[in-house]
Amino acid sequence: MRLAYAASPNLILFASFIAQDLTTMTNSFFPPIRTLMGPGPSDVSPRVLGALGRPTIGHLDPLFVTLMDEIKGLLQYVFQTENALTLPVSAPGSAGMEACFVNLVSPGDTVIVCQNGVFGGRMKENVERCAATAIMVQDEWGQPVDPEKVREAFKSNPKASLLAFVHAETSTGTRSDAETLCAIARENGALSIVDTVTSLGGIELKVDDWGADAVYSGSQKCLSCVPGISPVTFSPRAVERIQNRTHKVQSWFLDMQLVMGYWGGDSKRAYHHTAPVNDLYALHESLVMLQEEGLESAFQRHRRNHEALVAGLEAMGLAMAVSPEWRLPQLNSVLIPEGIDDASVRSSLLNDFNLEIGAGLGALAGRTWRIGLMGYASNTANVIACLSALEAVLAGQGYSLPTGAGIDAARQQLAA
Ligand SMILES: *Cc1c(COP(=O)(O)O)cnc(C)c1O
Repeated sequence: MRLAYAASPNLILFASFIAQDLTTMTNSFFPPIRTLMGPGPSDVSPRVLGALGRPTIGHLDPLFVTLMDEIKGLLQYVFQTENALTLPVSAPGSAGMEACFVNLVSPGDTVIVCQNGVFGGRMKENVERCAATAIMVQDEWGQPVDPEKVREAFKSNPKASLLAFVHAETSTGTRSDAETLCAIARENGALSIVDTVTSLGGIELKVDDWGADAVYSGSQKCLSCVPGISPVTFSPRAVERIQNRTHKVQSWFLDMQLVMGYWGGDSKRAYHHTAPVNDLYALHESLVMLQEEGLESAFQRHRRNHEALVAGLEAMGLAMAVSPEWRLPQLNSVLIPEGIDDASVRSSLLNDFNLEIGAGLGALAGRTWRIGLMGYASNTANVIACLSALEAVLAGQGYSLPTGAGIDAARQQLAA
């Protein structure tokens, strides 16, 4: 009996395997090699992909614990912080966003939320799901957050305990002045929640110098790691607020008090959830690469390639959607010329050139393309490849442009 009982699951498995073999057996999935120049994920380097394929070990293996400590140190380096509570949340950027809100917002709180694109809208959703009130500060899509409006919002809402904003708005390609906004929060006795999903590793971000309190990012933008991990960091003030909570955090998985037991300090690690072991090998490798290059050099590389791309696009008669001062070098919003079919240009780039660029979002849907030059994808070869493919596709749609002008201008800009 016992034998039959034990054997039956195997028999069922075997039978289903045969059935699958005869009827629905699918093949392994081999994706094409694309060039990823959209809003993320960005190109992942072979070094990072190689790290991903190393042998899986246990998530409580002493060697893995050593790796976790290294990752924490590397994240402190890229965030430019000494915050002890710095770790990678085992889920995408949206989970990092949610981790900041559910831990810092309590029911009945008032939170000032800045919106100048898609992601500010998601912050509002998060606040409301924490049973708190979101006071919205709206700016045009493609414009930075206006610090004056934020000051006004604090004046009208002196009880506001948090300010939330997006440093690098990926939906529009716009940077906001995070340093000034964090300072306004402090002056008003509030903590700041800062979305740095697209800024981390691409433009200057100084968590400690700017006094940012809860900061989240993503693995797949300027870190050029695989998607699915969200680095976060909390200031001592934010940790204090978390520890003084009277309401339980509504999310068990994202409750930092519990996560700290696994990722936290010197005491022994307690099981919370199974860390995505191989993904963390990949994150570690991508952070090591960034450290080898140096943050400043990485920022300069992003700026240089961005300037070359813009020079090329403008020489082709295209116009940028964001004013120069607030442009993100890692996410370039270009206005789609009159009479050009947005979707067919993007699908031709993808199908004929294996090149992915992004569509406009929300208020800018159908009006812009978003060309990413993020992390490993921010290189000269990609700038030239993109300009040349775009020229070919636009010419095919009857858009008149001087042959080779884009590449020429980019080349000159790079030589300058
Ligand atoms: C991509 C992005 C997110 C969401 O990250 P996911 O990894 O897709 O969940 C949040 N904020 C900004 C600014 C982003 O660009």
